[in-house]
Amino acid sequence: MSTSAERREQLKAVYAEARGCTRCPELARTRTQVVFGAGHADADLMFVGEAPGAREDEQGIPFVGAAGKLLDQLLGEVGLVRSDVFINNVLNCRPPGNRDPLPEEIHNCQDYLMRRVELIEPRVVCTLGNFATKLLRADATGISRLHGQAEIRVIGNRALRLYPLFHPAAALYTRSLLDTLRADFARLPELLALALPEQPQPPQPEPAVPQPAVLEHGVGSEAEPEPVADLPGTPSDRQLGLF
Ligand code: URA
Repeated sequence: MSTSAERREQLKAVYAEARGCTRCPELARTRTQVVFGAGHADADLMFVGEAPGAREDEQGIPFVGAAGKLLDQLLGEVGLVRSDVFINNVLNCRPPGNRDPLPEEIHNCQDYLMRRVELIEPRVVCTLGNFATKLLRADATGISRLHGQAEIRVIGNRALRLYPLFHPAAALYTRSLLDTLRADFARLPELLALALPEQPQPPQPEPAVPQPAVLEHGVGSEAEPEPVADLPGTPSDRQLGLF
């Protein structure tokens, strides 16, 4: 079991890896920067949006445009601020022209999201809109049917409450969606106060089979250690927005 300080350092290492990611050649070529996520590295509440837009790509921080202002306002209405929560997306990179994420891009990026969930250990994960909801529920049911219904799910190695919500960008333009989103948001304090679901058992290590030492012609069996490539620079806490 790791301490929160250890998990935060591991999160910074995952960010350092993601910053140089080229799994999606088009996104790697067209992005200004990777938008890894921002907020509290030990948050109880995580939000997962779709993908960075133009403002997020410029600033390296998720939800800084109009949808982000609405998210801030809704957080404020339940007594929370951005620095209390962790905000990230299904994709770390902006799809050019704000097109929808492609299935292959979602596939390529999902282990970054899983590792963030495993290291931050949120109790409640709010999926914002269809892309995040379908990915984390591994099911094609849409947000209109699922919003406001919390369910216990195992994401990565964590059991948590998954709580699908309408995407704030959709609520910006449709009054009835905003009312629904606000009503769903109002249940967050109650969900956060529930006991943590029972956690899955970590996989048990295979019993070690003793290996005989192999010495040939008097040469030791120890292989030369592989050189470890340098991480691409030390991630800045400011851009990551960790507290
Ligand atoms: N919409 C998203 O889904 N994510 C962002 O970061 C911004 C807008």
